[in-house]
Amino acid sequence: MLGKDYEQQDCSLARALEVIGERWTLLIVRDAFHGVRRFNDFQAHLDIPKAVLSDRLSGLVENGVLQRTPDPGHAGRHLYELTPAGRDLWPALHALLIWGGRHVAPNSRVFKHATCGSLLDEAGHCARCGVTPGPQDIVSEVRRSRTRGRAAPREDAVAVALREPHRLLEPLGG
Ligand SMILES: [Zn+2]
Repeated sequence: MLGKDYEQQDCSLARALEVIGERWTLLIVRDAFHGVRRFNDFQAHLDIPKAVLSDRLSGLVENGVLQRTPDPGHAGRHLYELTPAGRDLWPALHALLIWGGRHVAPNSRVFKHATCGSLLDEAGHCARCGVTPGPQDIVSEVRRSRTRGRAAPREDAVAVALREPHRLLEPLGG
């Protein structure tokens, strides 16, 4: 069986991959940036087996990327939200999204500076304001010009909510 750590690698990239390098992990983090907080919402949006999701969420909590708190709306359930360390993954996640858009498949979403509404450049920089906003100051929205070759749109609650522009880190669905 393939090990999941890189003990022989004396490198902080190897250490980071032990935290976020497993299959699904970064997609969970991406959804957390979009404000997904509940197990059932992650599960419905990602189509991920429940046991895998449970394992990944626990790992992200153990590694300090997500924090788990009681869900005030549902007794016995939890909310998962990015910690400050988790929020620090934004530049890395954004860079991967840009790389994917350039080399693998067109990006389906764009990111705008919440303060002025300008499109961010590929470095995540707002040329108009001269700043590189953090995720709390970024609005994510569907790329409107994208019309060809789309798979049938997803109809889960998260996918439907994200058809509207959404400020990162603002909870989706209450
Ligand atoms: Zn701006």
